[in-house]
Amino acid sequence: MMKNRLILLDNGHGEETVGKRSPVLQDGSQLFEYEFNRDIVKRITKTLDKEKIEYVVLVPELKDISLAERVKRANAHHAECGKHTCLISVHANAGGGTGFEVFTSVDQTKSDEFAQIMFDCFKEEFPEQKMRSDRLDGDDDKESNFYILKNTNCPAMLTESFFMDNLQDLKILMSENGRSRIARAHVNAIKKIVKL
Ligand SMILES: [Zn+2]
Repeated sequence: MMKNRLILLDNGHGEETVGKRSPVLQDGSQLFEYEFNRDIVKRITKTLDKEKIEYVVLVPELKDISLAERVKRANAHHAECGKHTCLISVHANAGGGTGFEVFTSVDQTKSDEFAQIMFDCFKEEFPEQKMRSDRLDGDDDKESNFYILKNTNCPAMLTESFFMDNLQDLKILMSENGRSRIARAHVNAIKKIVKL
């Protein structure tokens, strides 16, 4: 019997570098990416526990863990677990724009197949939002030599769920409903990916 795939969840950035952050709102609140990434990963793992889907959270610490160390951990789990894995690095976007996008490393690999599933699950969960895609290579994911995508030995993707410097997107990122939808889209994709 084929064993289900192990999901490696990377919640990126620690409290020292915090990653990207939103502008400060009128009520004084502000979104920090490290908090968002961790909260989404926590929500994902709650459902994966219920669904009995195996996962590893790559960064249980609150502090910053270097990309090199995160890749080392991912590759160690991949080597040790004796079955297929898939890494999902969870982020929120900044830099001007709106919507969702998912990255894989350059070239067509298994990562592209899995990233397309993630893209489709977000499209289904957020039909009213912009889906940012690059169709030049025939699929919807964007490709980039991000360190964590390029250096991991397993299929890997990086999700950028909405822009924290866009007030419309920020409402999604800071609301209970928005966060549960973002987590649900991830879980729906994971439920398909673990069987492949
Ligand atoms: Zn990030």
